[in-house]
Amino acid sequence: MAREAEAYNRSRVLEEARVAVEEASRESTGRRKRRKERRQKQAAEAAMEHRIEEALANDQDLSQLDTVKVPQGSTVGELAELLGVPANDIIKRLFLLGTPLTLTESMSDELIELVADDLGRDVKVMTKEEENSFTFYDDPATLKGRPPVVTVMGHVDHGKTSLLDAIRHTGVAEGEAGGITQAIGASQVMVGDRKITFIDTPGHETFTAMRARGAKVTDIVILIVAADDGVMPQTVESINHAKAAGVPIIVAVNKIDKPGANPDKVRQELTEYGIIPEEWGGQNMFVNISAKKKIGIDELLDTVLLQADVLELKANPDTFASGNVLEAKLDRGRGSVATVLVTRGTLRIGDALVAGLSYGRVRAMLDPKGNNVTEAGPSDAVEILGLQSVPSPGDEFRVFQDERDARDLADQRALKARIEEQNRVKHVTLENLFDTMADAEVKELNLIIKADVQGSIEALQDSLNKMDQSEVRINTIHSAVGAITETDVVLADASNAIIIGFGVRPEAKARAAAERDGVEIRTYSVIYKAIEDIDAARIGMLKPTEVEVQTGTAEVRDTFKVPKVGIAAGCMVQEGEISRDDQVRLVRDGIVVYEGRIASLRRYKDDVKSVKAGFECGIGLENFQDVHPGDQIEGFRIDQVARTE
Ligand code: GDP
Repeated sequence: MAREAEAYNRSRVLEEARVAVEEASRESTGRRKRRKERRQKQAAEAAMEHRIEEALANDQDLSQLDTVKVPQGSTVGELAELLGVPANDIIKRLFLLGTPLTLTESMSDELIELVADDLGRDVKVMTKEEENSFTFYDDPATLKGRPPVVTVMGHVDHGKTSLLDAIRHTGVAEGEAGGITQAIGASQVMVGDRKITFIDTPGHETFTAMRARGAKVTDIVILIVAADDGVMPQTVESINHAKAAGVPIIVAVNKIDKPGANPDKVRQELTEYGIIPEEWGGQNMFVNISAKKKIGIDELLDTVLLQADVLELKANPDTFASGNVLEAKLDRGRGSVATVLVTRGTLRIGDALVAGLSYGRVRAMLDPKGNNVTEAGPSDAVEILGLQSVPSPGDEFRVFQDERDARDLADQRALKARIEEQNRVKHVTLENLFDTMADAEVKELNLIIKADVQGSIEALQDSLNKMDQSEVRINTIHSAVGAITETDVVLADASNAIIIGFGVRPEAKARAAAERDGVEIRTYSVIYKAIEDIDAARIGMLKPTEVEVQTGTAEVRDTFKVPKVGIAAGCMVQEGEISRDDQVRLVRDGIVVYEGRIASLRRYKDDVKSVKAGFECGIGLENFQDVHPGDQIEGFRIDQVARTE
């Protein structure tokens, strides 16, 4: 019965994809246009509804609504509707401004503002992020002091990690110190009776990517500069990113224990970038530290609190929580796991919330030390379980009194995202056809990107955007966190796309579908490799290439301890052959959790060179112990193949 249902489901998915593609290619220009218009209208309606919903939910005072929020890229028709004026009025004005546009053409930010101004109206052009963000109004009487949220930035090797480590160990007894592990991408320390939250951003790019999405998750930046190295390129970048965000900078001059250290030289160098010590009449507080020898750490923390006092950081803790997603991932067993920063209100177990496109009820919360907690207040960072899907870093989250409201908003957003995606896919495909006909020189490369974390997708997308696309245009038609599924393959087949997997693997069904349909799936564990390949393909230079050859797969049935090796996996080889010398990866729910080599391969007590399908064996992985029953071990080999063409 289940099998029949599945077969039916599959044939339906395939049928729908086939019909969609056929329709797209059959449709006359007129019909296509009308469909596009209908979609745009739907999107505009969704935006309008959202605006009203937002205004109602926030008890916005009515004068606030005099400023009309216009989604970026609105068409002439949509603007007319939002302003409640006849479209002809706008068309006329556009004509007079020397930029004649038709009803369905979209307008630049500048034009929207000019026309609105002409009509004596106040508008605010909203980016997608702004459209999705909530604004809250708190009575000043409800505001209470809140801890500062701090990000450490600086050049590589100047001591970010060491400093965070030193900070995490302050106030902890020596014996205890070794046992402290960090559970989430944030930490909190107590200085006397005051708390400070530290957020680990792997780099200033992430910091800015979050900010670009409207997330303000840092009150203070600690800029770390090594006294023996001075100002380096990433020091300057960090300064620029912090300045652009309008966040005050405290400078920690690190490694003062080193013989060649010259803290005053660092101060001097920084003046060139407008970072001037208070003692020299400037705005920035400086502290000399040694992260390694734990010198000056307390003084640095006191300085952070001093800066926080100047900022008078406040929030209303006695309301429904809201804040931002810092990182999110899919976890075997635990499902969607999101680290969030609460910026307002108090988050509690059982709360119904929306974060970006996902919603759910908070099932469990962990603080940065990995302890279960029942509530989290302003400036607290916690890991939450219970969301139905994986949100993106920077997404805003908000708790609703009624779970239904949360679900409605999430549904509405998902619908809107789907409409946008559909428009995008169709748009790209149609444009492809047109371009290929009009100008055969321009080629298209469609990509579907799947990854283990949203950060990888963003990093890859960023590099793609920077590539020269004059000869080959690169379109990402879909990207998401999670394993490569059959639906991805269907989409790739329908849009002639290549699937790029990042730290993820195809599900068995997806692999079979890809083989059947001739869809290429390329998987990578490092970003630059993918960039290299795409870049090489772009200029037709993907020459002798490395091809991965699958040699065998085994399923982990059990685990046991082996002296010297540690945890070994009791496996059943299911396909091919597992060889001692092959490379292996450990796959859990489609996510690659380990890639490396086999440390030991045994049948009973004997070391063996290889084990064939249908046989049991014990596999120990090099430097990796976290094996669970149900995991897949994939063996593979990299062959060099000359390109045939
Ligand atoms: P990150 O790349 O900025 O995270 O830098 P790390 O914290 O990994 O530090 C880079 C190197 O500098 C490591 O070898 C640290 O042991 C060393 N280091 C960090 N802080 C100090 C310090 O205060 N004194 C000395 N002598 N070495 C340090």
